Amino acid sequence: MLLTCPKCETIFRVDSQNLNVNGQTVRCSICSHVWFALPPKSDARPTKPYLAKKVIGWNRMGAILFILLLVGAFAGGFVHQRVIVTAYFPGLIPGYNSLGMNIFSKTDELAVIDLRAAYTGDILRLGGRLQNNSAFDAHAADLLVTVTSNDGTVINEQTISPDDQIIAAGVSTPFFVQLSVEKSDEAAVTVLPIAKRITR
Ligand SMILES: [Zn+2]
Repeated sequence: MLLTCPKCETIFRVDSQNLNVNGQTVRCSICSHVWFALPPKSDARPTKPYLAKKVIGWNRMGAILFILLLVGAFAGGFVHQRVIVTAYFPGLIPGYNSLGMNIFSKTDELAVIDLRAAYTGDILRLGGRLQNNSAFDAHAADLLVTVTSNDGTVINEQTISPDDQIIAAGVSTPFFVQLSVEKSDEAAVTVLPIAKRITR
């Protein structure tokens, strides 16, 4: 085996048989430095420096795992929150689509407000606003407009889109539609946000 003096770095060839199995004190013949030398690892019991090295290895492994978890959580967020992410970065939509991940507008936090209906003969002019009640920007949903007579018959049904494709948090966007209806005096109008697939 080879022993290196830790002080003058002179290398000595030593017969490992002559060295105590648990290590022993040796003296450098060049610089007289005295240190505790250990036989080759295969002969020695686990020693403190060896254990310390293992601990560092585990710490590093833990750090790598932690970073992988962070990256995974980040990527997971990009998958699970893709509806919100693409409301802020619409340019990412084709990328998601190419990965087979569809983007659908969410309707649970969108509300139709300021609904106004005005009849002129058989023409119903319907306007209002679609409000985004969430804390994040959102894709606008389509609006299912249904005109129903008193006896429950659907007179007219139409899907329309509001003016803006993306509605900022807490903001509303207007919509307007003109429908041809009969017996307009007796008709009831409902406007319901419906999820649509966003492909832009
Ligand atoms: Zn020495």
